[in-house]
Amino acid sequence: MTSLQTIGVIGAGTMGTGIAQVCALAGLAVVTIDVDAPRIARGREAIARAVERLLKKGALPAAERDAALGRVSGSTDYRALAACDFVIEAATEDEALKREILGRIDAVAKDDAILATNTSSISVTQLGAATRRPARFVGLHFFNPAQRMQLLEIICAEKTSDPTLATSVAFARRIKKIPIIVNDGPGFYVSRQLIALMSGSIFLTADGVDGADIEAAMVDFGMPMGPMELMDMVGLDICNKVGEELDLAPKGGSKSDGKTDNVLATLVKQGKLGKKTGEGFYVWVDGKPKRDEAQYDDAELERLGRELVKPLLDEAERALADQVVEDADHVDAGVIFGTGFAPFRGGPLHYRKSERGAEADKAAA
Ligand code: NAD
Repeated sequence: MTSLQTIGVIGAGTMGTGIAQVCALAGLAVVTIDVDAPRIARGREAIARAVERLLKKGALPAAERDAALGRVSGSTDYRALAACDFVIEAATEDEALKREILGRIDAVAKDDAILATNTSSISVTQLGAATRRPARFVGLHFFNPAQRMQLLEIICAEKTSDPTLATSVAFARRIKKIPIIVNDGPGFYVSRQLIALMSGSIFLTADGVDGADIEAAMVDFGMPMGPMELMDMVGLDICNKVGEELDLAPKGGSKSDGKTDNVLATLVKQGKLGKKTGEGFYVWVDGKPKRDEAQYDDAELERLGRELVKPLLDEAERALADQVVEDADHVDAGVIFGTGFAPFRGGPLHYRKSERGAEADKAAA
């Protein structure tokens, strides 16, 4: 297994900076690369601020302040990656750009170094084929914010070798993430789950169910927030783009009348992008969504909650049947740690099994 001491991170943006931070705090040396010095400096400043916050909270020993930052270096010159054992590409989501960047890493990295991409929508197999080391190429799909989200999807491409997977799992554990192994495919696993949930909720609103009842039903079910609020927070432009790229767009046409107009695309065209523009599904005031009170009673909310999670449960069963994820525990853990799915329900497969058990008991009684 490749030893892990020095990690390269390409791109000092949102994700690259978060990844560099978790690596440095885990005691690994990190080399960050971006196109200019100001971007590299901004990433480093963000890590310095995070280190200060952790010190203030007592979550980091004082002796680690300088040590953690001292482990992070930055450069615009790819040759700085020569000593890295593992290089993670986290640059702008553009396939041609990523191919060019991977070629540049490949040319300077050690022969036994592993290359990884944090792409959210591009085929990892295709990107691996652009390198001279497809067996030592893997997807590492971190979630935003990488500093806080516990899940790490390890995307196994067609040619990813077992030793590369084993090193990737060891890396995940070293940086205190929960790894799940997912085979390469559109949306990998967790994004498909989220899109299933979001699409289902848009269908129901198009069919006349009140958004306030949908949100309340999901919170009652045990989700941290409802799907519309989540979409508003992520940004409706991003939700729409990811959905379209994966050809899983939450179209939002009504199931009953066959309309196919894309609710998200319409809101985006109107400039309603969610929290960041002050209006999406909701009007946002002082960082909070304004919405009506739910009208449904407890029993109706419970029934609606079960209906809302159905597309997600179907998608989880499909992921296991199609071997997108081969381990049932990973199917459940991915949704709990990647989407906040009500943890006490044990994940979608576990929940469906217990629901079926309860129905069978009822029928037998
Ligand atoms: P970002 O725009 O915040 O950062 C991208 C960085 O890449 C920028 O700093 C840019 O200057 C840099 N870059 C561009 N060309 C480069 C080059 N030739 N060499 C080095 N650096 C270069 O983007 P982000 O949100 O951090 O996303 C990065 C990747 O992570 C994308 O592939 C995205 O799909 C994926 N991702 C994003 C999220 C998210 O929620 N933001 C979640 C999971 C995965």
